[in-house]
Amino acid sequence: MSIVGNIEMVRKEIFAAAGSVGRKASEISLVAATKTQNADAVKEAITGGVDACGENRVQELSEKNEQGAYEGRPIHFIGHLQKNKLKKVVGVADLIESADSIELIQDIGRRAMELGIIQDILLQINIGNDPNKFGFLPSEVFEIADKCQLVTGIRVRGLMTILPFGLTRDENRALFANMYKFFVDIKAKTYDNVSTNYLSMGMSDDFREAIMEGANMVRVGSLIFGKRN
Ligand SMILES: *Cc1c(COP(=O)(O)O)cnc(C)c1O
Repeated sequence: MSIVGNIEMVRKEIFAAAGSVGRKASEISLVAATKTQNADAVKEAITGGVDACGENRVQELSEKNEQGAYEGRPIHFIGHLQKNKLKKVVGVADLIESADSIELIQDIGRRAMELGIIQDILLQINIGNDPNKFGFLPSEVFEIADKCQLVTGIRVRGLMTILPFGLTRDENRALFANMYKFFVDIKAKTYDNVSTNYLSMGMSDDFREAIMEGANMVRVGSLIFGKRN
């Protein structure tokens, strides 16, 4: 199957998952997770109609960006961002989905202010309390949203999560449902500077469950590009 054909298949599955819970597929963004893919593959995914491209390594992002790979589509940063590489991402990525510490968020804000821009970010939540994953713990979410109100140079646009490996579909669904509850609760609290436009959750193996539980942004890699080495 071609990349374009794979995207068509993923779109159909998004349509089906959304329809099964009375949602519209048109409200769900498909982000191609493009790690390890070359610029030509990225361009093909854009031709295939993905809504954005998500990179999780800074160097790959810089290289492919220089090659014009992302032209016409927003760039998302979806990996753990180290402070010393932040300058290559702030103002380049349209959305940093993986803001995972308050220090990082403050540094992103400082850099954005230097550039005279506002950087959109998502708060990455470690919803499974997985010691191997980055992100804020569920117990910290409201405190962090509260702190973000005072950070200039950033705007929180929603939440993102990566689930622990090896759970059952029902366990995944329960964690996605917990994320959706935070999403609704944060909206209700109406923090300054914190909006709830995006709930980014679900990857190749679990985007259907994520959509059933309220995701409006899914990040899909291997189903689009084939298995990574
Ligand atoms: C690689 C990656 C994905 C996509 O994973 P697949 O299982 O290949 O679909 C999604 N989100 C993040 C943060 C990733 O690094």
